[in-house]
Amino acid sequence: MKIGVLAVQGAFIEQEMMLKKLGADCVEIRQKEQLAGIDGIVLPGGESTVQGQLLRKLDMLNPLKDMIKNGLPVLATCAGLILLSETIENDSLSHIGTLPVVVKRNAYGRQLGSFTTTAAVEGVGEYPMVFIRAPYIDSVAEGVKVLATVDDHIVAVQYHNQIGLSFHPELTEDTRIHEYFLQIVKERN
Ligand code: GLN
Repeated sequence: MKIGVLAVQGAFIEQEMMLKKLGADCVEIRQKEQLAGIDGIVLPGGESTVQGQLLRKLDMLNPLKDMIKNGLPVLATCAGLILLSETIENDSLSHIGTLPVVVKRNAYGRQLGSFTTTAAVEGVGEYPMVFIRAPYIDSVAEGVKVLATVDDHIVAVQYHNQIGLSFHPELTEDTRIHEYFLQIVKERN
């Protein structure tokens, strides 16, 4: 099982550490050629505008869109969720756009927007959540499963092969969300 971790910007190392801990083979994705042969992909947190620009410059946006539309499992956290969302409420440009939700960037405010809490994640259980200048999801299309909410805001969703999270599971010791993702990858193979 080979998992690609988008490594153009942001918190990709922490994702790799988590995946390696679970015995997955990781490959850092910096060029589109490296997308060949992966069984799943992780889109890490960071800065979505920078990541979006880099994906365009590296000609990776369309290949990624096609692979995800064709069923490639994807785990997207924070900026990754913004990249994946079809509509960004407070931005004119969307990026990969395969996840039919409306997301709001920096939804908790820019400066004081970092906090931790715990909440239930469907299929996983009570989970520690780290939010860093995080987005939340304002609305979802039919067929998108809401996995978690915090204070009435949607913070985790699943749409078939796509998981989108507002928070950072890779910054905790709790591996259950990555295990859940790897299970989806395994089931597809
Ligand atoms: N605020 C960032 C953005 O809008 C996301 C923050 C994060 O990934 N921790 O892209």
